Amino acid sequence: MSNNILIVAEGRDGSLRKASYEMATVAKEMARGLGGSIEAVTLGHDIGSCAESISKTGVTKVYQADDSSLATFAPETYATVLAGIIQKSQPGVILFPATGYGKELSARTAAKLDVGVVTDCTGFQVENGNLILKRPVYAGKALATIKPKSLPVMVSIRPNIFPPAAVDAASAPIEKVAVDAPPPRAKVLEKVEKEAVAVDLAEAKIVVSGGRGVKSPEGFATVRQLANTLGAAVGASRAAVDAGWIDYSTQVGQTGKTVAPQLYVACGISGAIQHLAGMSSSKYIVAINKDPDAPIFKVADYGIVGDLFEVVPVLNEEFQKVLSQK
Ligand SMILES: Cc1cc2nc3c(=O)[nH]c(=O)nc-3n(C[C@H](O)[C@H](O)[C@H](O)COP(=O)(O)OP(=O)(O)OC[C@H]3O[C@@H](n4cnc5c(N)ncnc54)[C@H](O)[C@@H]3O)c2cc1C
Repeated sequence: MSNNILIVAEGRDGSLRKASYEMATVAKEMARGLGGSIEAVTLGHDIGSCAESISKTGVTKVYQADDSSLATFAPETYATVLAGIIQKSQPGVILFPATGYGKELSARTAAKLDVGVVTDCTGFQVENGNLILKRPVYAGKALATIKPKSLPVMVSIRPNIFPPAAVDAASAPIEKVAVDAPPPRAKVLEKVEKEAVAVDLAEAKIVVSGGRGVKSPEGFATVRQLANTLGAAVGASRAAVDAGWIDYSTQVGQTGKTVAPQLYVACGISGAIQHLAGMSSSKYIVAINKDPDAPIFKVADYGIVGDLFEVVPVLNEEFQKVLSQK
């Protein structure tokens, strides 16, 4: 088995997701320690531009599995095709993004090939040629160190932890792979797109989130106004999502999305460990809470003790003034 690395790049609507470039950064650093080369694979239909993009991140080769049978993400078919590419490329480490796509695909492909998976990694090092991975456990309260007994190993990398690699290297050769997978037992009949959101939460530079303190669906209008002014994505705590005030897709935390924006504004969120697990890597955290002892203030760079329904509109007005002068 080689020490080579294979990146499983994830695309959506014809372009690569940011997490794919982040894996290229991880792969380069790992390859320095492991001493192998880096290849990448893209799967889907009409994904020429995805293959082009990842080919310019410093990889030596890209496998492009491009076929109408891969037009919609059908995990069974994708796993069969990917397993074939892995058998051909014989990598030591297979990197996936720890997104819904990467989680499902890594688990299925690992089962097919009888290979171990280390999920949701946030750090790694290579010591004497051995790969050592770090992943948060117990909702981020502890960090587990995992040393795979042998290669190959599949590793999923938590998004928004590593910087994305630049797309500035010379294009690596792209090999089109023949796709010949048996028809899947479950077929995707229809894909219903969620209502388009202005800014994608997982990739946003600014996130304004609301919690139980927002009190109602109408209360989220205040949060949304500030988000609109700042060009931010709207997030939420699980309490707000469970109350049905806002869609599940906005949940930040252990069982929601992991975000790492430049600025995270938490409105009426107490700062439970499970919420912090999804946002504590944000560069600057601003907390607005009427309880001065709320745990969120322990992680906040700036804290405002007050009623969010008074504070947020004032912030919104002031930001509008400042931004209109630009
Ligand atoms: C296995 C598991 C997984 C979980 N996963 C997640 C997860 O992914 N994400 C997540 O968020 N939680 C998660 N939770 C739930 C988590 O433990 C907390 O219950 C939740 O985060 C609390 O949400 P909250 O801060 O909005 O509500 P609360 O803890 O009730 O806090 C509300 C805050 O609002 C403040 N407040 C009230 N009114 C106002 C006002 N007018 N102005 C300003 N402040 C006000 C209060 O002082 C309080 O601090 C999980 C729990 C478990 C057990």
